[in-house]
Amino acid sequence: MVRDARDVAAFRRGDAGSAVGEIQSALVHLELLTDVSTPPLFDQPTDWAVREFQQNRGLVVDGIVGPETWGALQAARLSLGDRLLSLAGKLYAGDDVAALQERLAELGFDTGRVDGVFGRQTETALRGFQKEYGLVADGVCGPATLRALKQLGRLVTGGRPHALRESEQLHRSGAALAGKVVVVDPGHGGPDRGAAGHDLDEASIAEDLAARLEGRLTAVGVRTVVTRGADNCPTDAQRADLANQVHADLVISLHVDRASSPLCQGVATYHYGTATGTTSTVGERLASLVQREVVARTDLLDCRVHAKSWALLRLTHMPTVRLELGHLTHPGDAARLADPAFRDVIAEAVLVAVQRLYLPLDQDPPTGVLRLADLAHR
Ligand SMILES: [Zn+2]
Repeated sequence: MVRDARDVAAFRRGDAGSAVGEIQSALVHLELLTDVSTPPLFDQPTDWAVREFQQNRGLVVDGIVGPETWGALQAARLSLGDRLLSLAGKLYAGDDVAALQERLAELGFDTGRVDGVFGRQTETALRGFQKEYGLVADGVCGPATLRALKQLGRLVTGGRPHALRESEQLHRSGAALAGKVVVVDPGHGGPDRGAAGHDLDEASIAEDLAARLEGRLTAVGVRTVVTRGADNCPTDAQRADLANQVHADLVISLHVDRASSPLCQGVATYHYGTATGTTSTVGERLASLVQREVVARTDLLDCRVHAKSWALLRLTHMPTVRLELGHLTHPGDAARLADPAFRDVIAEAVLVAVQRLYLPLDQDPPTGVLRLADLAHR
């Protein structure tokens, strides 16, 4: 199910009050809305503006301001220079941090993925920049650093340093799966059962798929870390933290979808990317391999690969993909998902996609032919 983490406080069409005023003023700042209404009312123009914002940011487009859209709106109000940025004290996140990261990356300093979060790698990149340009290398983005960043102009253009580094790292790590670390993330869990339909629930299916995938990965020598047990439901940020801590090579998040219409069906795979063109190239390749292998080996409808900026995709420092394996609200998909043999096929498809990601292009087999038994001997 796509609609995670939005049940806490959500504002939608028809709501009124000061929070709605804040939402409107953020939309006005972004030039998506002309005026804040008095008194603040979540009206039709506000609903349209929210949807446009969600579309731009790669969020679920539903016109509802839940925690994720709220956070993105707050972050979007900040421009570089609005505040001092550093690693000290609170965690700085926002469009100003993203602008700083993009700027540093253009200049050749590796900030990691442009995620709008001022983390350790951003600080290291900032210190590197300060050192090289004769500034006090204190890792604080203050007035002097801002001036230097502006004066330098766009020295480097056309490169996507992080994307290139991601690909480089992939090739350096070699084709062998043994020794790689893969985080397997069954969606939802504990009290959050996710999507439901036809006597099945998403959390249980995700757990079972995770166990089948874990077994296969382990069999070929991959160190596998699963993000949750049967009884807990970590937040997306906690799941991302875990993956970052174990220095995972890849993260595979397993979900099953639902829809209001029983006619909706099929499988889709998501990777990190934003409307402004920032994308995880390796994530995109893995997503496309997973999607193709699953579609080739099952009769699930192909709902294709999409870029999203969801928290887990954004906060993980490594390529991460999220699968939405069929719709529990569709009788055919539900019947497939209930079948353990079908789940085995899915797990094998994902394993094969992971292997194909690391194979040099000249050794990459056609979709749908590689088997677990072939991989065990590599
Ligand atoms: Zn889900």
